[in-house]
Amino acid sequence: MAIGGMRSALPPVTRFAPSPTGFLHLGAAYSALFAAAAAGRKGRFLLRIEGIDGGRCRPEFEAAIYEDLAWLGLTWETPVRRQEEHFAAYAEVVAGLNKDGLLYPCFCTRAEIQREIAGAASAPHLQLGPDGPIYPGTCRHLSHAEQRRRIDEGLPYALRLRTNEARASAGPLTWHDDGLGEMTAMPEIFCDVVLARKDVPASYHLACTWDDALQGVTLVTRGEDLVPATHIHRLLQALWKVPTPRYRHHRLLVGPDGKKFSKRDQAPTVRALREGGCDPADVIAMIDAQVPKI
Ligand code: GLU
Repeated sequence: MAIGGMRSALPPVTRFAPSPTGFLHLGAAYSALFAAAAAGRKGRFLLRIEGIDGGRCRPEFEAAIYEDLAWLGLTWETPVRRQEEHFAAYAEVVAGLNKDGLLYPCFCTRAEIQREIAGAASAPHLQLGPDGPIYPGTCRHLSHAEQRRRIDEGLPYALRLRTNEARASAGPLTWHDDGLGEMTAMPEIFCDVVLARKDVPASYHLACTWDDALQGVTLVTRGEDLVPATHIHRLLQALWKVPTPRYRHHRLLVGPDGKKFSKRDQAPTVRALREGGCDPADVIAMIDAQVPKI
């Protein structure tokens, strides 16, 4: 395809898009180094701060990200896009999808969703999607009058995508993954995903996909744990009629115990290693040693 061919011949635009919810651990540092290396000397490397979760993101973690990445020798384009500054823009994007009848308000609490799943006929473990429990669709069929009544009553609500309808209007979708090859998008694995949370007019899927398009990212690199998210991102690109980037999902680092690093399980941070006397080359060598080779 001409456009695809031309695009891949151009130096890529890549990005590292951390959420500032903790100090940069080795797994995230690897992701940043991977994205910068994928841009190469001719491409462009962007840094985006995905801080829409006001309850978990903290300014000191954001400041530490800049400092630690610079210490590792990375440079990126400025200004850095900070998602928390763009809620008005995301709200407009959400309003567009809502106008097209593709969203519905969901008033459920986490506890209600769990209860509904526990009471369902099939086994709860069959109802786990990539984002956690698959939403059982409780609010999908509420009448307009009932939606209005609850909204007027002041009940908080999220906005969910009518995934099947959206998928039907978009038709069959694929994307190219450098490691996995041609992929067929199956957004239904998420059921009706949240695109606007109760507290902010955006969600990870919405803001990340929108920003990748807005910033002209042509090669999305990120951990293989995010492959499932790409199914829904591909659908959003089709709804917005924006270009689909290439994807390159990298392996996740594993610690000496064979367990994957994540922010939740006390993985070593760049900061702690640095304060313990390591220099950047030591840390990069440590990361290299922990990239799974098979
Ligand atoms: N902000 C996401 C995270 O920190 C990454 C999003 C992405 O690379 O698509 O996990």
